[in-house]
Amino acid sequence: KASRKFHPDSTVVRVGDAEIGKEKTFTVIAGPCSVESEEQIIEVAESVKESGAKLLRGGAFKPRTSPYSFQGLELEGIALLKEAKEKTGLPIVTEIMSPAMVETFEESVDIIQVGARNMQNFDLLKELGKSSKPILLKRGLSSTIEEWLMSAEYILAGGNSNVILCERGIRTFETYTRNTLDLSAIPAVKRLSHLPVIVDPSHSAGMSWMVEPLSLAAMAVGADGLIVEVHNCPEKALCDGAQSLNPGQFKNLMQKLKGIGSNL
Ligand code: PEP
Ligand code: MN
Repeated sequence: KASRKFHPDSTVVRVGDAEIGKEKTFTVIAGPCSVESEEQIIEVAESVKESGAKLLRGGAFKPRTSPYSFQGLELEGIALLKEAKEKTGLPIVTEIMSPAMVETFEESVDIIQVGARNMQNFDLLKELGKSSKPILLKRGLSSTIEEWLMSAEYILAGGNSNVILCERGIRTFETYTRNTLDLSAIPAVKRLSHLPVIVDPSHSAGMSWMVEPLSLAAMAVGADGLIVEVHNCPEKALCDGAQSLNPGQFKNLMQKLKGIGSNL
């Protein structure tokens, strides 16, 4: 079902006034790694909207490597995202970690994100196949394109045809960047599948100064958009501050992207 062979027309996922996957359209999702407070999420939501982001991201349930790191505000985080949506009109994207949470997410969230660490959580994928919400499926830390598309297939096989793929960098021998952004995956996936594919330059780079060049590259290779981490005060972020743009840097990035002439 994910294959272009049997579905030549590109899938367009519509959320709010975003049309992800539409030809000549580039959709930017932006927001903090994690929702931290009411003030933080509202401030970031208002600023990214002003700069042209179409959706707001923010983690409430965080898959942290260490159990001692900030794990997210959980349900309170979802409530704060809803508040930010009410204030700005931006639809919200947040990560799910457990099949038990599908019902809650179904009620509250506009796009349900499956993180890299859960790309092969097949019970979760099967449950999301029954959902009516679009799913943002990140590529696993060390997954091949074939494995990634098979995970999308699980969701499609369950009856949910609104899947957006997200290349977020993979683990290679290189340690300079947090992950290695596999730019070649974009044209490969576009050829193999009809599903939209976006790029996460933030988790690929791991450092904020590299987010802009990777974003421009993503647009050049034909990605359908970006998901970018933006924090009102990156130095104080509880998670992923080093790779987060501040609102001014995000505004500059959006102006550069618009300058290339795509329909943002
Ligand atoms: C995130 O988007 O904050 C995140 C945890 O991403 P990934 O699953 O790609 O590591
Ligand atoms: Mn993050």
